[in-house]
Amino acid sequence: MTIERTEKTWRPQTQMVRGGTRRSAFDETDEAIFMTSGFVYEKAEDAEAAFKNEIDRFIYSRYGNPTNEMFQDRLCLLEGAEACRATSSGMAAVFASLASQVSAGDHVVGSRALFGSCQFILTEILPRYGVETTLVDGGDLDQWEKALSKPTKAVFFETPSNPGLEIIDIRAVCEMAHSAGAMVIVDNVFATPILQHPMELGADIVVYSTTKHIDGQGRTMGGAILAPEDWVNETLSPFYRHTGPSMSPFNAWVLLKALETLDMRVAKHCQNATEIANFLTEQAKPTRVLYPGLESHPQHALAKSQMSDFGTVVCLDLDGKKENAFRFMNALQLVDISNNLGDAKSLTTHPATTTHQRISEEERAELGITDGFVRLSIGLEDVEDLKEDIAQALSKV
Ligand SMILES: *Cc1c(COP(=O)(O)O)cnc(C)c1O
Repeated sequence: MTIERTEKTWRPQTQMVRGGTRRSAFDETDEAIFMTSGFVYEKAEDAEAAFKNEIDRFIYSRYGNPTNEMFQDRLCLLEGAEACRATSSGMAAVFASLASQVSAGDHVVGSRALFGSCQFILTEILPRYGVETTLVDGGDLDQWEKALSKPTKAVFFETPSNPGLEIIDIRAVCEMAHSAGAMVIVDNVFATPILQHPMELGADIVVYSTTKHIDGQGRTMGGAILAPEDWVNETLSPFYRHTGPSMSPFNAWVLLKALETLDMRVAKHCQNATEIANFLTEQAKPTRVLYPGLESHPQHALAKSQMSDFGTVVCLDLDGKKENAFRFMNALQLVDISNNLGDAKSLTTHPATTTHQRISEEERAELGITDGFVRLSIGLEDVEDLKEDIAQALSKV
């Protein structure tokens, strides 16, 4: 299926509601779920032609599926990307975006401030296949320049990072990466497709965990890779077809519905997060409050220049002490303890003992993830209820 020309001119809110929709012969209003693993051919010759790529049609849902294609097209229209592949999780998207293009002997550069599983792929899995990886402090352009002084196949980073909310200068890193011959992959999970458009700043590939804000209601696991069409056809597609990280059509349908409200939800999340960040700075107990929208954030100006709002996650440090962090989290009555984020329900995580427990204490210290560091994913509840809950929990510390 190809994206219709009229759709390309619609504004983002219209894309989120209607982009990529294809009606079946039954003229349904809502997008249909095609829960089918395979497709039938009228003649053996048709199957032969399909496998030879001589005709464009669905073959097998590991390769592609009509519901998935509607979701992929809608995301492309929103991101301004040429092509997309939906995956079974965000990590499947991260892994496929890298593994599909690297070979033994290649060099990959990444930022140090990464989600634990992304860090595992760069530092444990890729080196096992003979790929050399260099990690840099993402905020230090001199370190990027040094690491990219030798030929590099791919660059991978998150901005804002999970959970340290480090901001990376997308435009500057893309320029250096391209000079080194690298494709730039940006994990845009924390920014969402609403707040930041890495491709407009030079990124080649954008990856999402759709499990987070794109679902936004805690139902499905999923991911997406957005990239130039040639790269998807020549590099990603063979890897994707034969290794099988494809998304369930049911999840693609849930996510199509979720995209219809994404911008409204993200706007509300950001509004609540800003209020909570300001509220926390007025409280005595946190020794540090981290939110890209606060002027005290070390990269506030950079965040302002490349994001349209500051995201949905607020972090605080309770004097570097695990005991304080646990006491605070256990006292919360409305906010749930969960390692997920971007959900309608506000959630809290202690990264040092969960998502980032695998990395060493020294590395955590470098990333500012102390034992007192708490991540709050701000949801869609009434912000006054959230403030009351946070205030009473802080009083227990
Ligand atoms: C959650 C997350 C992922 C992984 O996504 P899953 O859907 O859990 O596999 C990758 N990157 C970032 C920044 C994340 O927050």
